[in-house]
Amino acid sequence: MSEPIPSKPHEHEFRYYAAVNLFRGTEAVGVVDLWRCSICHVKATELRVQGLNNLSAEAGFPVLDGPDTRWVVFVCGAEEEPKFDVFNLHVGDEIQHDCVEKVGPIRVGKDYSIENKSDKYHRVYNLDNYLNENLELVLAPEQK
Ligand SMILES: [Zn+2]
Ligand SMILES: [Zn+2]
Repeated sequence: MSEPIPSKPHEHEFRYYAAVNLFRGTEAVGVVDLWRCSICHVKATELRVQGLNNLSAEAGFPVLDGPDTRWVVFVCGAEEEPKFDVFNLHVGDEIQHDCVEKVGPIRVGKDYSIENKSDKYHRVYNLDNYLNENLELVLAPEQK
């Protein structure tokens, strides 16, 4: 057995890495599965939403992270039913988003959270901070 050499071209060998459970209050609304290559440690994700089966783990992962990107969950809380999606982003990237509270891009700041902290309706969470934990999608009410 030789030592794995990350820079060497290889077929990624994805192993199950961690889960992030998405909650709305006490209701589980989805799970983000993270898979990691055992050789070079790139990560892929699969979002499983209630009642919706995703087959990317079997079909191969179309998007992988890199040294300067992170997997994030974007949440829109403008409507009663929060909307969410998973993206792989660089610092400074923009998420195209239209809703009743916002038309236009949402910029991702330094720590992979939303750059505009005064935006009460949108959040960006770095999944690395929630591995094997619960992520609450309901946005906290404004502190008085
Ligand atoms: Zn690999
Ligand atoms: Zn929105």
